[in-house]
Amino acid sequence: MPTEREPAPEFDLVFRNATLLSPGDGPAERRDAVLGVRDGAIAFIGQALPQGARAARTIDAAGKVIIPGLINVHTHAILSMVRGVAADAGFAPSYTPGIPKGTQVNAAQARAIARLGALEALLFGSTLIGDNFVHADVTTEAMAGLGVRLAPSWRIHDVDFARVADGHWEYDPAIGARTLGAALDLAERWAGHPRVQVQLAAHAVDTCSDSFLREIAGLAAARDMRVNMHLGQSQVEVERVRARTGRTSTEVLDDTGLLTPRLMGGHCIYLSEADMARMARAGAHAVHIPKCNATSGRLAPTPALKRAGINIALATDTQHADMIELMRWALVTARVQEGGVADDWQPHHVFEMATLGGARALGQAHRLGSLEVGKRADLVMLDFRRPHLVPLVNPLGNLVHTGQGRDVEMVVVDGEILVEGGLPTRVDMDEVCREAEQACRELWADVGRAYWEPAA
Ligand SMILES: [Zn+2]
Repeated sequence: MPTEREPAPEFDLVFRNATLLSPGDGPAERRDAVLGVRDGAIAFIGQALPQGARAARTIDAAGKVIIPGLINVHTHAILSMVRGVAADAGFAPSYTPGIPKGTQVNAAQARAIARLGALEALLFGSTLIGDNFVHADVTTEAMAGLGVRLAPSWRIHDVDFARVADGHWEYDPAIGARTLGAALDLAERWAGHPRVQVQLAAHAVDTCSDSFLREIAGLAAARDMRVNMHLGQSQVEVERVRARTGRTSTEVLDDTGLLTPRLMGGHCIYLSEADMARMARAGAHAVHIPKCNATSGRLAPTPALKRAGINIALATDTQHADMIELMRWALVTARVQEGGVADDWQPHHVFEMATLGGARALGQAHRLGSLEVGKRADLVMLDFRRPHLVPLVNPLGNLVHTGQGRDVEMVVVDGEILVEGGLPTRVDMDEVCREAEQACRELWADVGRAYWEPAA
């Protein structure tokens, strides 16, 4: 019997009767569990609430599954503007003639469309998005308004993008100074913000000259910033870099000082075994974007990346921002490549990529990416009473094989409920959709492709 009574714990938010799924070393699954949140962090996980504990709000999570917030490290929310078209045009929007480009988007349009892209990701359980594109000053503000965690950046390059779609790669130091300077200004403006970690999104090795890459590497090291790039994304990149430097993109990154644990390489389709070994040695991270890549008829050599020992994070890039569906894409495409079901491609592997893998890539694994006491309370609650998720024999198997972003009922970041009943708490969803639709109509009309006009 205790002689002195400890004060009963108080929680801001408690979930009872929940099934918890978490990646990492701890128990992967807990049923009928209690999870308590205090001061924005996970303060308690157990089978019963401590004696006398009080909670400002208690949620009965019977029939629900709670997972850590999904970490979507490579998105371009503004590119929602090319949804329904770019996926069938053959290549990345920045390189494709006839569709709206970042250079054509004004600030008001950027704000409206970025809110749409970020809201879509948040509603489907992404608690962190690593977003970069044009107008990042405006879009960071707009996306942060939803409450979602952000790793934003301007799109940094010194190539003249207005000419790339026409086949001309010309490097202009003034463009480099402008895009890099804007990214550094963004970092200064958001320094110390609890949910915003500005990074340096150098676009790609073909769109950044060697000297410019060296400058970015120096700044990233001096300021301990993450660098988020497209790496081995296209045959065009491979050929341009080979012609310019005589090397692979990975070799150029190594030579210019960018191949470090701070680097996230997006796509990683065109990498040799030697490139992968080099990445693994350097501790750089691969960002796997299976839906985008498969939609354009390509696949990253993910089984080989995994065998090389490279940390893999997942991202939706310009595609539908459903990270739950994306885990399935990552799993089944790897099985197609391996020619069967293997022990190293199981649901828990892709679940880890979608959570802890992203947290590691961002240097945030000590505070994000799993359900552990002491970590930030970034949580996603899904309704598992729906027909496609019954029976609950293996919740993780259900999540990865039949789950969808639309099954997300609640999203919590830093203990704050941002999505409840499948709807955002901070913004009006219909208004976000309306404004984005209007902005996209203007942009498509500007490139002469008004899909909304009836045929003459
Ligand atoms: Zn991208």
